[in-house]
Amino acid sequence: MPLFVDTTPPGQCIFCKLVAGEIPAARIHEDELTLAFMDIGQVNPGHVLVATKRHAVTVLDLSPEEAAAVMRTAQRVARAAERAFAAEGLMLAQFNGRAAGQTVFHYHMHVVPRHSDDGLALSWRRQEPGAEVLQGYAARLREALAASPD
Ligand code: AMP
Ligand code: ZN
Repeated sequence: MPLFVDTTPPGQCIFCKLVAGEIPAARIHEDELTLAFMDIGQVNPGHVLVATKRHAVTVLDLSPEEAAAVMRTAQRVARAAERAFAAEGLMLAQFNGRAAGQTVFHYHMHVVPRHSDDGLALSWRRQEPGAEVLQGYAARLREALAASPD
């Protein structure tokens, strides 16, 4: 079952226009495959998005080279954010599909400087289903991995 996403033709989505310089952005870094710029809605001061230059929609659409380039740029931005915003923590977050909270359907990673008193909380509910269930989940994923293209 495919992820539930919006499809905008490549070149017409908001981040394609931003990459092309057709709409303004506070750009901080670019290389052949990625562009880093300030998120217009700052979760904390220094909140950056690292987007692919190419119109990929989710992590499932990235080439191995793009996946590596995004993480490399995010790491460089994270180092800069630690220094420039005196971050005590660094949160990298990335949403794929509407069900996961994605709202802009052009691949991007959030880099958010964190502070112990910033009041941000992820409301994850955790269950511990036990070793047998975990082994079952692991078996399902091993089987799917073996059947997946790289
Ligand atoms: P999400 O798809 O949930 O990862 O969130 C998309 C992010 O893109 C949000 O944090 C928005 O604030 C941000 N955003 C949307 N439009 C722009 C824009 N024109 N420039 C910079 N950031 C944007
Ligand atoms: Zn796009």
